Amino acid sequence: MSDARRDPIERLIEALMRLPGIGPKTAARLAYYLLRAPEDVTSELVAALQELRVRVRYCRRCFNVSDGDLCAICADPERDPHTICVVEEPLDVVALERSGVYRGLYHVLHGVINPLENVGPEDLRLQELVERVRQGEVQEVILATNPTMEGEATAMYIARLLQPHGVRLTRLAHGLPVGGDLEYADQHTLARALEGRRPLHVR
Ligand SMILES: [Zn+2]
Repeated sequence: MSDARRDPIERLIEALMRLPGIGPKTAARLAYYLLRAPEDVTSELVAALQELRVRVRYCRRCFNVSDGDLCAICADPERDPHTICVVEEPLDVVALERSGVYRGLYHVLHGVINPLENVGPEDLRLQELVERVRQGEVQEVILATNPTMEGEATAMYIARLLQPHGVRLTRLAHGLPVGGDLEYADQHTLARALEGRRPLHVR
């Protein structure tokens, strides 16, 4: 059915359900909320979504969100270019920055290897990471994927990929909630996990 002929509320509910963590009930609640909300709430949402598509890009080096060619972190000459922290999502960068202890650069994978969801290594920004390491300035790669099964497997996959290049490979210390997401960890936990990072032994 063409979009114009669908029930507008049904259409909105279906669109909301495609977002992560939003089931049919939440989608319906949000849709009916938006239906009754003051106009400035909905028009701001529409404007913000449009601006997101137009203005936000990915940094050409680390694939963090950026409003320029390079993100603010890559463009900062005070950051240590010898250390790269590999994370799953841009939100993890936000969480690690909040911890205030990390001064190196990042590499955002935009996912983890997950065969059940058909996400393979080729779907992540792995070749770009290898290329950054091959250029020779990097001394340590911190594998900061989430402590989930997929996160652990992805960290090990990357470690095998990078091992021949002679960089130090480390993993965040335990203490992060197992199965949890980095983005939900508080800043003290993240600071401790970073400071206590340990060598990753490639199996
Ligand atoms: Zn960047």
